[in-house]
Order: sequence, then structure tokens, then C-alpha cells
Amino acid sequence: MSPVASDFVPFTLQSNSNIKDYLKANEKWRSEMQNEHPNLFTLNGQGQDPHTLFIGCSDSRYNENVVGVLPGEVFTFKNIANKVNVEDLTCLATLEFAINVLKVNKIIICGHTDCGGIKTCLKDQRKELPGLQCSHLHQYLQEIDDLIHENKVLLNSPEYQNDLEKQSRLLSILNVKKQYESLLSVDTVQKALENKSIETYGLLYNVDSGKVEMIDL
Ligand SMILES: [Zn+2]
Repeated sequence: MSPVASDFVPFTLQSNSNIKDYLKANEKWRSEMQNEHPNLFTLNGQGQDPHTLFIGCSDSRYNENVVGVLPGEVFTFKNIANKVNVEDLTCLATLEFAINVLKVNKIIICGHTDCGGIKTCLKDQRKELPGLQCSHLHQYLQEIDDLIHENKVLLNSPEYQNDLEKQSRLLSILNVKKQYESLLSVDTVQKALENKSIETYGLLYNVDSGKVEMIDL
């Protein structure tokens, strides 16, 4: 995490904010939304009809709002390293609900640059996690470690060798592709693709520019 001079921090709340600050911030946000989009909350009050399922990393620097959407447009599933784990009930239930009940017509897996999960494994720091009381995280990141091993030759090629940022960016892209393969193995997704009721996309969000790029799946 890079230190930022406090004068330049644009954030709404800080680590020393109390719950009253949160409520005050909500009032401000609500009234701004009300002014900008007068019928939004009335519409949201009638139910949700999202067009997209967004699968992203839990990283605090991005979410579905990077494509400028409003509340009610996107159903979201975030987890560390934007994984599609077919053995995870939360993941399977989210896919079923989004596809079969909400009838979204797009699924987006959006990874991002500078992913902490990926960098931890790249720097070979995963083994330190149990000692930091993060044994579940250690187990969780096994798949990223496997991805690194599967792509060792490419990562050690002259283009990527000794360049952590480049390696990490490459792995973010490869991880989206890997998670996409998992997505395709889910029965619910296969059926929706067969009857052409959904489209699927891979994206990469650049945390240092805000730019979203398409990943060829
Ligand atoms: Zn991440």
C-alpha cells in the first residue's frame, strides 16, 4: 500500500470516522442522487431488474461503478481475486439467482491490476500467511499459486522476467481467463449460453488510470 499525503486524500470517510459520519455521508449521497436522478429511488423501490452480473475482486479500488452504472443495474459478486469457484455454494447460488431468476443477459468477470492476492503469490509470500493468522487465505490462494506454476515459462521469459508489475498484470489477465473456464463448467451458465440468453465478457480494470480493457477470452 503506497502512502498518500493526507491533504490529497479525496475519500469520504477515514479510519477514525464514527457511525454518525457514515449516516451523515449517506444523507449527502442520497440528496445528491435525488437531485441528479429524481426517479431513481422510486424505481429501485419497485424491485430490481439488473442487466448484468459483475464478478470482481473485493479490492477496495473498484467495483461495477467503474462503468458508470446506477443502483439497480448490476448484480455483484466480489471475492478475493475475482474467483469463480464451482465448489463454493455462494458462487453457485449467485450464478443461479442472477441467470435463472433475475435473467441478467451479461456476465462480466472483471479482474484488476495490482491485485494483492496475485502479488502475494508472485512475491512468494503466500507461505507467510499462516503465521499472520491467515491460514484460510493461504488455502484460498492455492489456485493463484498453481496459475503461476502453470505459466512459469512465460513469466520467466525476457519480456516478463524481473518485472513484478508486468508479471502481475499478465497474471490478472490469465486469472480472468482461468475463472472464465470455471464459469463455463457451470451447468446453469452452459444452458444459458446454449439458448443464447447470456453473453460473457472478461475485463481488466487499471487501478492507476480507471481504464477498463477488454480481455480476449
Ligand atoms: Zn484483487
